[in-house]
Amino acid sequence: MKDYYNTLGVERGATPEELKKAYRQMALKYHPDRNSGDKEAEEKFKEINEAYSCLSDAKKRAHYDRFGTMEGMGGMGAGAADFGFGGFTDIFDDFLGDIFGGGGQRKQRARRGQDQRYDLEITLMEAAFGTEKKVTIPRMESCDKCSGSGSASGKAPQTCPQCNGSGQMRFQQGFFAVSRTCGKCGGAGVVVTDPCSECGGSGRTRKMRNLNVKVPAGIDSNTRLKMTSEGEAGERGAPPGDLYIFITVIEHPFFKRHERDIYCEIPISYPTAVLGGEIEVPTLKGVSKLKIPQATQSGHQFRLRGEGVQRIGGGSRGDQIVKVYIDIPKKITPRQRELLDEYAAISGDDVQKTFKDKLKEMFSG
Ligand SMILES: [Zn+2]
Ligand SMILES: [Zn+2]
Repeated sequence: MKDYYNTLGVERGATPEELKKAYRQMALKYHPDRNSGDKEAEEKFKEINEAYSCLSDAKKRAHYDRFGTMEGMGGMGAGAADFGFGGFTDIFDDFLGDIFGGGGQRKQRARRGQDQRYDLEITLMEAAFGTEKKVTIPRMESCDKCSGSGSASGKAPQTCPQCNGSGQMRFQQGFFAVSRTCGKCGGAGVVVTDPCSECGGSGRTRKMRNLNVKVPAGIDSNTRLKMTSEGEAGERGAPPGDLYIFITVIEHPFFKRHERDIYCEIPISYPTAVLGGEIEVPTLKGVSKLKIPQATQSGHQFRLRGEGVQRIGGGSRGDQIVKVYIDIPKKITPRQRELLDEYAAISGDDVQKTFKDKLKEMFSG
């Protein structure tokens, strides 16, 4: 014996609203359009319909509650298709929208072309000062032979004879009006009667496309440039998609960038650190002179103003931060050794002595 309440997952005393809600949920879940080819879902869907068609009708429900069956109710059998139930289409129509997004009257237009992505690597200098890059991108383009119409003769596509242009097929399944995407036109509502030999009727062919990409000064990694309408062509004259250029700045062996500033490290000799002097520092644009004052400590940072990177769109450039460190030679000549020995003899333990004095001060306080 079929238990209609059980089928819909409701209590025996369920109100009409509760029944409708339960039915809605179940019908959406087991709808054939969502379970294409699933025999079990189809069976379940029929059962749900049968149960609801009975319980939603006060007279039939009373009969069912009393006899536990629909038999004897106006000669109707248990087969769902036999119910000839009235109000169903309406109920279903008001949530067809949930499934199809448009009450079953949806019409699919020829689709806009897809957006495309292209990954572009540039150097730090190119990022800092801007560049123009030639890139070759494979993409779908409007077919030359048929001018994108898809038809060999250039004739405009014809209204699909199967769906009359709606792109949807509506038919009766049991006591349901069901909509499906039209198989003949794929939902477009139009068909090409004499397909172009080049593109097979789609109006598009795959081509290699050369493009100039203008990369603005100041750009950094993880930035994308949008090139409007440079994506793939749409179907049969629909608008093209956009092209997005994803920028990666290749890491530089000497310069590091942080936002608008450039960082680098430069070795100086011990005498230069002690006595001061002038050194040359590579910059993004060339070479710059940097004055090292007397008694410069290892690790000290100097700032070269305006030698960094600008923001996209203009403005002043950031700075270059130069960190100096004292270079210890791995090899020295006998003469250098002689001089260093002499230097050590007269001052070699100065560093230790000064440090010890400092410590003493710290711990006696
Ligand atoms: Zn069609
Ligand atoms: Zn063509």
